[in-house]
Amino acid sequence: LFIDQPLADGMELRIEGGQAHYLLSVMRVKIGAVVKLFDDRTGEWLGEVAAAAKRDLIVRIVARLREREGVPDLWLCAAPIKRGRIDWVAEKASELGVARLVPVATRRAVVDKLNYDRLRAHMIEAAEQCERTALPELAELVPLDALLRDWPAERALFFADEEGGTPMLEALRDRTGPAAILIGPEGGFDPAEREAIRACPAAVAVSLGPRILRAETAALAAVSIWMAAAGD
Ligand code: SAM
Repeated sequence: LFIDQPLADGMELRIEGGQAHYLLSVMRVKIGAVVKLFDDRTGEWLGEVAAAAKRDLIVRIVARLREREGVPDLWLCAAPIKRGRIDWVAEKASELGVARLVPVATRRAVVDKLNYDRLRAHMIEAAEQCERTALPELAELVPLDALLRDWPAERALFFADEEGGTPMLEALRDRTGPAAILIGPEGGFDPAEREAIRACPAAVAVSLGPRILRAETAALAAVSIWMAAAGD
């Protein structure tokens, strides 16, 4: 269970709302039951249900189980795509251990607003289900030109380009260190955007194969390839 405050030994927490409903009505926990909690800061903790009412319960922290895990230094910069599909990207980014999800505004995007609470809820749910102790940081929507203008030189920017590039595995061979993957929207990047990305000194155009993938599939494939190559 994700708790949005730093946890510590002996702390007593009141659990309410959806989390209380999940514990009381779905998991049917009773006094004395143990639950695992994490806070994305201090790690994973064991809690014991000290009191349970109809709509809330008190959980006392009794022991730390794990330190917060280290996550690979990989950002996923992705144009917002239609609802459901961007939620899926957020979920997979969380499962795969991406450090930062950066939504990028592009010209052909069909979506220009994001529901950050919903995206974060998807990340949290995925982390809970997959026993993660860390969440990706969710950045504000940034226009592509601002992203490129302020790009940190030391971070390789793997630009997933369906029109051709170095096969991603090959591109990763001699590149270690901080990295990011850039994925376009449903309609791809327009020609001027592609040119601007390629002109960014840190950019490396990469191919994920000869077939055009949906944006969310490309994001998942690129992150998986990077993780596999980095051994992270
Ligand atoms: N129209 C489909 C959709 O709605 O998702 C396909 C969109 S594809 C143009 C979206 C993005 O996925 C591209 O901008 C690119 O970043 C990435 N992409 C898709 N296939 C790829 C491939 N074979 N190699 C590299 N990147 C790819």
